[in-house]
Amino acid sequence: MSLLEIKDLHVTYDAVDGAVLAVDGVDFSIEPGEFVGLAGESGCGKTTMAMAIPNLLPRYARISSGSVSFDGQELSSMSEEQLRAYRWKEISVVFQGALNALNPVQTVGSQISEPIRAHDDSVSEKQAKDRADELLEAVGIPARRAADFPHQFSGGMRQRVMIAMALACRPRLVIADEPITALDVMTQAQIIDLLRTLSERYNLAMLLISHDLSVLAQTCDRVAVMYAGKMVESGPATDVFGPPALGLGAQHPYTQRLLRAYPNIQHERRFIDGIPGTPPDLSQSQSGCRFAPRCDVALDICASTEPELLVVGKNHRAACHLLGQSGGG
Ligand code: SF4
Repeated sequence: MSLLEIKDLHVTYDAVDGAVLAVDGVDFSIEPGEFVGLAGESGCGKTTMAMAIPNLLPRYARISSGSVSFDGQELSSMSEEQLRAYRWKEISVVFQGALNALNPVQTVGSQISEPIRAHDDSVSEKQAKDRADELLEAVGIPARRAADFPHQFSGGMRQRVMIAMALACRPRLVIADEPITALDVMTQAQIIDLLRTLSERYNLAMLLISHDLSVLAQTCDRVAVMYAGKMVESGPATDVFGPPALGLGAQHPYTQRLLRAYPNIQHERRFIDGIPGTPPDLSQSQSGCRFAPRCDVALDICASTEPELLVVGKNHRAACHLLGQSGGG
């Protein structure tokens, strides 16, 4: 049994001028200890899908149908009280923007120890403090700095504090939502290394959300790509980022274009190739392949018929009519 199993998930935003289906029929799973990357442009539904897991959606959004099962327990229908047993203890979140997420008038040590005691009455103040010290050391911050306030840390150090907070209650799944956005390149690499190390040390399943496929390529066991609320490709990172000469590589034109939008220091120098146009307006009804208006290899069928996810390799699926034509799946 998978640790996390999402089936046919739909998440709707109730906007002033009508409903917006931000996640539309997504199937997704994570195994214990697996490091999974979730990619796609801004507004494609990555964060909405991830926040639907512990049901931390904004109040104007809701799971309209589908299933979110964690360790065999259905979370989507649980009350807030029932979900308290899962949030932070089983599933925790590293939010974007560490400066905004930390309390500026509370020491980082107390911000880490607070959820430990809030979720377990049997833990003494001393035990929670010791655990906070241990977590700070685990993320590369000397324990003596537990008495410091957030403004006394650099951006990268604050993100490390956020990661320590996410691990406070020993969860089995950590959702890291764009944890390296706004950090410099060197700090980004250190934070990604840290997430990978912690995932292995504590056998943590990790869902790393990023719009940058090059980050996911070097970190993840498996990668999934969303576009306009749909899952368009998912597969082992070694396949999705593997060399086409060996019959590997991204199979969906959107994933291929995302890859071409980032420099690759292992290949010859070339201009970065952005994707023209913008994702569709999800407040309007959709037909056919949602990527069709931006796809440079679209077929006639693409405008009218939605492609299904096809098997294109071992544990590798992609939703594109071109793959059906060439016999993929
Ligand atoms: Fe392009 Fe058609 Fe494939 Fe969509 S289904 S990605 S429009 S070729």
